[in-house]
Amino acid sequence: MEKNIQAIRGMHDLLPEASPLWQAIEDRARAVLEAYGYAEIRTPLVEMTELFKRSIGEVTDICEKEMYSFADRNGDSLSLRPEGTASCVRAVIEGGLLGQAQRLWYRGPMFRHERPQRGRYRQFHQIGVEVFGLTGPDIDIEVVLLTRRLWQALGLTNLRLEVNTLGSGEERAVYRAELIRYLEGHLERLDADSRNRLYTNPLRVLDSKHPDMAGVIAAAPSILDFLGEESRAHFEGFRAGLAAAGLACTVNPRLVRGLDYYNRTVFEWITEDLGAQGTVCAGGRYDGLVEQLGGRATPAVGFALGLERLVALLEQTPPPLAPQVHAYLVAVGEAAQARALQVAEGLRDGLPGLRLMCNCGGGNFKNQFKKADRSGAPLALVLGEGEIERGTVQVKPLRGEGEQVEVPLADLAGYLAERI
Ligand code: ATP
Ligand code: MG
Repeated sequence: MEKNIQAIRGMHDLLPEASPLWQAIEDRARAVLEAYGYAEIRTPLVEMTELFKRSIGEVTDICEKEMYSFADRNGDSLSLRPEGTASCVRAVIEGGLLGQAQRLWYRGPMFRHERPQRGRYRQFHQIGVEVFGLTGPDIDIEVVLLTRRLWQALGLTNLRLEVNTLGSGEERAVYRAELIRYLEGHLERLDADSRNRLYTNPLRVLDSKHPDMAGVIAAAPSILDFLGEESRAHFEGFRAGLAAAGLACTVNPRLVRGLDYYNRTVFEWITEDLGAQGTVCAGGRYDGLVEQLGGRATPAVGFALGLERLVALLEQTPPPLAPQVHAYLVAVGEAAQARALQVAEGLRDGLPGLRLMCNCGGGNFKNQFKKADRSGAPLALVLGEGEIERGTVQVKPLRGEGEQVEVPLADLAGYLAERI
């Protein structure tokens, strides 16, 4: 026998059993996004590799070692998208959407060739938001409040907010030089990665999780001492807005984010319940990116949240989930089986929203009831010879208490409407 082909390492099936939780998260996220007037955008999973190099930055984990890049048949270098922002920016430029402010959201799979572990996969899923054309800080506050509303909708209470500012490009350049000078003075304490990054992406050194580096990082100069008047006012406005909304946060001057394109506001939502992979949602402002990718200069702010990490959190305290099927139609005997699909269609017409599974493939009473039970439906609808003659259906509760009731077919949709 030949060996079974398996899924690719770090890329997972989502089996039916897991779907209700994913759907609950996605549905609630969508409802929250719509409550703020955000519109959905969908972009291709594959883009020119150049797009990611020019936006995320060549000297980043993503571009150096995590991208799934390949040559198209004509020789173009293409990549599976590792994140959503670059594609979104490309799409709004290409689609001519920058004439007015845009509040957009997306969801879907992202691909990064990382070492798979809990909370870190090679195909993972994000929901993200990108807003174009607003300079903030009011909109920065709005996107953070939106994430808070999402946690509330999901019943999550164990997330905390960290914020920082990266200043403007010029301020960051001065800070960067100062940081390099400082790190040069502590070369012997830097790990290999940080030494490699010292002149290419020194801010990223602050992001190092290497335990031996904690001391060097803690004593490093702070970006907050390098802010000009405007950046300082922006950051103060941002924090004041969060405070006014009753949202507590910690300022973490070492929070720099891994990607090149951020400026000013950055933030992360973090949990202690998922071990090392504790960042559930991360975002910030990227005012220079649209212009850098060839569009008219347009300020922008956004975030992305990792669905696998949210799922992992919610598995610990799952929200109530709706049953996948409300009712299972059992049809016993030839006459009933011949009518079953028609009765089911009639019910779906009469009661939109009804999730009805109709028995297919025949079987005796016992056998069909087993399938009804396995469907997870709380109700069985039973159609037999007698019911056909009387124009009725038996409604039998499959879970918990309740008596079987015979309901005229004409009243059935109304009867079920009160019970689903
Ligand atoms: P990390 O520091 O955990 O590597 P990141 O800074 O690379 O995160 P972002 O690019 O900001 O992550 O992506 C936003 C969110 O997407 C993260 O906060 C996380 O929840 C999720 N995420 C990122 N990479 C992965 C991955 N490989 N597997 C699962 N989720 C991920
Ligand atoms: Mg990463």
